[in-house]
Amino acid sequence: MYLSFHGANQEVTGSCHLLHCADKNILIDCGLYQGEHELDVQNSGPFGFEAASIDFVILTHAHLDHCGRLPLLLRRGFQGEVITTAATRELTRIVLLDSAHLQEEEARYQARRNARHGKHPQLAPLYSTLDALNCLNTFGRTAQYNQPLEISPGITATFCDAGHILGSASVLFNLEEGAVKKSVLFSGDIGNSGSQIMRDPAPPPHADVVIMETTYGDRLHRNPTDSTVELYEAINNTLVRGGNVVIPTFALERTQELLFILREGCDRQLLPQNMPVFLDSPMAISATEVFQHHPECYSDATATLSSTDHDPFTMKGFHATRETVESMAINQIVGGAVIMAGSGMCTGGVSATTSSIIYGAKSAVLYSLVFQQKAPWGDASLMGPHR
Ligand SMILES: [Zn+2]
Repeated sequence: MYLSFHGANQEVTGSCHLLHCADKNILIDCGLYQGEHELDVQNSGPFGFEAASIDFVILTHAHLDHCGRLPLLLRRGFQGEVITTAATRELTRIVLLDSAHLQEEEARYQARRNARHGKHPQLAPLYSTLDALNCLNTFGRTAQYNQPLEISPGITATFCDAGHILGSASVLFNLEEGAVKKSVLFSGDIGNSGSQIMRDPAPPPHADVVIMETTYGDRLHRNPTDSTVELYEAINNTLVRGGNVVIPTFALERTQELLFILREGCDRQLLPQNMPVFLDSPMAISATEVFQHHPECYSDATATLSSTDHDPFTMKGFHATRETVESMAINQIVGGAVIMAGSGMCTGGVSATTSSIIYGAKSAVLYSLVFQQKAPWGDASLMGPHR
């Protein structure tokens, strides 16, 4: 019985831990390193174990830094089973297909750049869309929260609600090898308590060994109510002066959190009830649909709301724009709308182009990244993107 760590060591991204027990190799997450160029090199480097020797992957949640190297694992010989919750499975599909698309785009861009500089133009993506699709075929059994699942004789995994993103879990392993019995808990990423959409993280079960994330361990989050009040104020002020509000937002979770807050603002008449809200990101639209399909992951209040046929994520003036033509039409809106677009950092994707076109003296770009963090909401003229 042993444990080894192959990512997220002294850094935040690239989660990948290997548990060996009863002759089986179990990988807990297989995430992508995200950030600087050096991390791209790390992504394409060796895993530190044979991909073909892995029997199972237990996936804690669908964020790219936890699932993003799964297609690469498959490409290098993995033939085992991926086990996760139903919601994580659906979100991972969206995340991996988007990641593969970006890898292919990046490889094409680098190849063109190399060709311009007289270098060898060939450059393979880390993995392709086909690799991502094939990878999805390795998803086998579905885990239910709090129901022990025998992965293999001597190895049982129990998924506990981590309250981080839809479908996220901490995973408790009960291991037996000969006379040795151990319980090992992998926290995965842990959410904040008090989320309106999801349940609070479940209290951790007893374990002999705990492997825990500490990404925001040294940071105090703002009270979400304060941020919500500020957001409503910023939107109302902008709409009154005849501008648009552009919110660059991450497709997964942050978009749904914002839609929930905007819908509540309209319901409670703190925002104009017919306020047009455009969601201008195909990936965010797909992720929102997955949220709508999994009320079993909602907090009690949101589950009650959803059971009364009240969609927690849409309001009267909601428009989802998947098509390029629809997306282009948003550029004609001179004022009075909230536009949520891709790229949480406002450095690329739809938001960068949209905001450069429609951002004017009357409009405001609000950085959703700051939600629940220390800095307040603010206009683009006052604030840059927050990392
Ligand atoms: Zn995460």
